[in-house]
Amino acid sequence: MRKGIRERAHDLPSARCPACDYEFLATVMPNGEFITPEPNSLVVCVKCAAIGQYVDSLNVRAFDIAQLMPKDRATMKRIQREVKSRWKEEPN
Ligand SMILES: [Zn+2]
Repeated sequence: MRKGIRERAHDLPSARCPACDYEFLATVMPNGEFITPEPNSLVVCVKCAAIGQYVDSLNVRAFDIAQLMPKDRATMKRIQREVKSRWKEEPN
């Protein structure tokens, strides 16, 4: 039997957004697939659109996208825009 979203989320480590302290229950791909974050994975906060990076302890620290290659920076900005556009559809 398939597990519910929250049960599956709790199989994964959680971390907090370095900007707004929102708890990331899980890292989910845009297609809904849950992934296990790895050190150096980037994450976009669904609450404030801040970009963070997982460290070895799987906590998240603030990340400056100026460190990325221009192509990767553009991808992260696109994801941030998608997060922000979702706020309009589902206001808190
Ligand atoms: Zn945040």
